[in-house]
Amino acid sequence: MFLGDGMSVPTLAAARALLGQREQRPGEEAQLSFEAFPTVGLAKTYCVNRQTADSACSATAYLCGVKANGGTLGLTAAVPRRDCNASLVPAARLASIAAWALADGRDAGIVTTTRVTHASPAGAYARAADRNWESDVDVRADGHDPAACADIAHQLVHEYPGNEFKVILGGGRREFLPITSVDEEGTRGRRTDGRDLIEEWRDVKRARNASYAYAWHRDQLLQANESLPDYLLGLFESGHLRYNLLTDAVSEPTLAELTEIAIRSLSRNDRGFFLFVEGGRIDHAHHDNRAELALDETIELSHAVARATQLLSEEDSLVVVTADHAHVMSFNGYSARGADVLGVSDARDADGVPYMTLSYINGPGHRREVDGRRVDVTQEQDFRAVQWRSHVEVPLDSETHGADDVAVFAWGRHHDAFSGLYEQSQLPHRMAYAGCFGSGLTACGAAALRQSLLALALVLLMQLVKLL
Ligand SMILES: [Zn+2]
Repeated sequence: MFLGDGMSVPTLAAARALLGQREQRPGEEAQLSFEAFPTVGLAKTYCVNRQTADSACSATAYLCGVKANGGTLGLTAAVPRRDCNASLVPAARLASIAAWALADGRDAGIVTTTRVTHASPAGAYARAADRNWESDVDVRADGHDPAACADIAHQLVHEYPGNEFKVILGGGRREFLPITSVDEEGTRGRRTDGRDLIEEWRDVKRARNASYAYAWHRDQLLQANESLPDYLLGLFESGHLRYNLLTDAVSEPTLAELTEIAIRSLSRNDRGFFLFVEGGRIDHAHHDNRAELALDETIELSHAVARATQLLSEEDSLVVVTADHAHVMSFNGYSARGADVLGVSDARDADGVPYMTLSYINGPGHRREVDGRRVDVTQEQDFRAVQWRSHVEVPLDSETHGADDVAVFAWGRHHDAFSGLYEQSQLPHRMAYAGCFGSGLTACGAAALRQSLLALALVLLMQLVKLL
């Protein structure tokens, strides 16, 4: 499963235009890799108590198959946000599709460009009444005891199913290291319980007599790709991985590279695997009104999906690509075919002031009007720089998510189960049906049973005809 965090439908349209324009074509006709998939559907993203989803309640929907309250992970809607006690009630605790896969003898892993403890990947392994409880500091800050409600990094290393993941790749070293220690790139940890969870992860794997590797640099990842260890933990930044357009390509792997090593590693299990891959920074760029970064991160996700479909067999695998929620970037105006998608519209506003083809309803890019008119952003010194913010209607510190439906693209076995418009929480059930495990086991087993009963009935009928 591939997730573009905040990859709204306008983001797809604009990213494909940018992709084509980078190849010196008009652009609108270009395709992201997964836009060539045979099935497309739409998913409704609202959460139990929120019209607009955040990445935690939506991760609970598309990984655990149940809609939840905003900000909560791996828990039913019986648990209000930040309610540690309620989250300990067994009936409220959900299992993810990664756990279903493990229970069926398959392997599981996560890959992300964010901290591995961030909301989307945490949906695969954590149960937390607050998505921000990434280290013990955060649990304590909300007045709870980490011994009762363990932080998300701790759950990943020590609790099921995270402790069984064969591959964990992304950023977020700071959530694993104590405040007294400094990581390989010079950044301090955040933990106040004195624990080094990277070292503890190694200890756990060593105690199992398994081979393991920890990587913080791209070279170490490529080395691990040469001779794959049983377990691989890669944390390439203290926080999130850097944006592709601003990264250090020497020390940080691309999402496609991370995806490739994860698939090669998990493919060693004959029974198969569940892998979650997130392009997580599309969302962050949109929150900052930085459209070019959001589109470029979308193109990076497209490259990662292309790498996956090269490595997998279409008969024997299912690849699903979707988003957790939308954003409020609009792709607007009546510009000519092939107009620079990151540029100004061909037309001007009612006062003759230029406006951008991509702009936002809200966020930090708001400019105050001067003399009752919008300002001409094309006159700004950093206009069109990679980190330039597009213009915005409503001033907010951070741009908001959108409540629109998101697209679902599917390729491979049972891809046609993903057409139509449905609740986001159906996704893992449909994936598990395709793979015949977890919540899908009874359904696909029943279908197989129906088929064999039908065959038996036919044989009996033929015998009966012969007799007559
Ligand atoms: Zn967001």
